[in-house]
Amino acid sequence: MAIIRLSRKAYFHNLDIIAQKVGAVSKIAVVLKDNAYGHGLLEMAKLSHEYGIKEAVVHNVNEANEIKEYFEKILVFAGHEYFVDEKLCYAINALSQIEKMPRGALVELKVDTGMHRNGVAMDEVEKALSQISEQGLVLKGVFTHNRSADTLSSEWFWQRKNFEKVKEKVLALQAEYGYEIPRFHSSNSAAAFRFKEFDEDLVRVGIAAYGCLEMDETLEQPDLQPVMTLTAQKIATRTLQQGEHVGYNATFRAEKEMVVSTYDVGYADGLIRAASNRYTTPDGEQLLGRISMDNSSFTGAKEELVIFENVNRYAEAAGTIGYEVLVGLHPEIKRVII
Ligand SMILES: *Cc1c(COP(=O)(O)O)cnc(C)c1O
Repeated sequence: MAIIRLSRKAYFHNLDIIAQKVGAVSKIAVVLKDNAYGHGLLEMAKLSHEYGIKEAVVHNVNEANEIKEYFEKILVFAGHEYFVDEKLCYAINALSQIEKMPRGALVELKVDTGMHRNGVAMDEVEKALSQISEQGLVLKGVFTHNRSADTLSSEWFWQRKNFEKVKEKVLALQAEYGYEIPRFHSSNSAAAFRFKEFDEDLVRVGIAAYGCLEMDETLEQPDLQPVMTLTAQKIATRTLQQGEHVGYNATFRAEKEMVVSTYDVGYADGLIRAASNRYTTPDGEQLLGRISMDNSSFTGAKEELVIFENVNRYAEAAGTIGYEVLVGLHPEIKRVII
């Protein structure tokens, strides 16, 4: 069976670095959406709680309900159903959502400062505040999201300027619409490391906490450690003769006699097939031939093979990003905290 090992030590080390960057553990909201980036929702919720994190961010209400006991507050990004609950706070991604929310629900207003994905437009902010007030919702926060925080460009500065304007407007309209001053936040992992002095109320940190943040080389590179290691167990070993092939469509050909082994992990487990023939494990074992649904073949004869320690190396071989590989890992793979 493939196994996902989660290093408590690496996770706490990453949280230490993030807490130091943003100034306080209380400013960290861990992003546990999508099965905690494939690490396991409950496992990562428990570890976060153990570390002293009070706040989480999830994709939907089901996820929030599963981990409610571990946190004081949970921000829910996407909603179709809303419940008035002292721990749950819903992101408002569009004006049309507001009228569907029940009186007394806690909300955070998302504003589009340039990414043009979710959030009300900057010139809709007043309308949103007025509707939030009419609907009897409780405004807790105002936030935005950066489109290019991980790349060396002026875009991050430009969006920050836009968010400053949003803040000013929200503060100026406070008396008129009668809400308490909300908290303001714009940073994901990459954005948090762009600050010299972090000055926001909160960081919504996902990939950095999991130790897989990648930034443009010239930007600050925090010393993070990947939390997850994916391993697989050997099914069989065989010796190939020169000219023999491995796997579907015979895409790998042995140039000389060689030992190869089959492991119990495949694309059904989330191993992206595009990496076929293009990946070498941290121990130097080469992925041979096409990845099958439940199997893949590598050089060597190790009983247990580390498939990856740093998901980004695997993702590169597959032509994608670490995030996509992580969230695609099958939820039934056993997660073990070490
Ligand atoms: C997923 C997400 C985050 C976390 O991003 P990371 O790059 O993993 O830190 C933060 N904010 C929003 C709006 C997100 O969707």
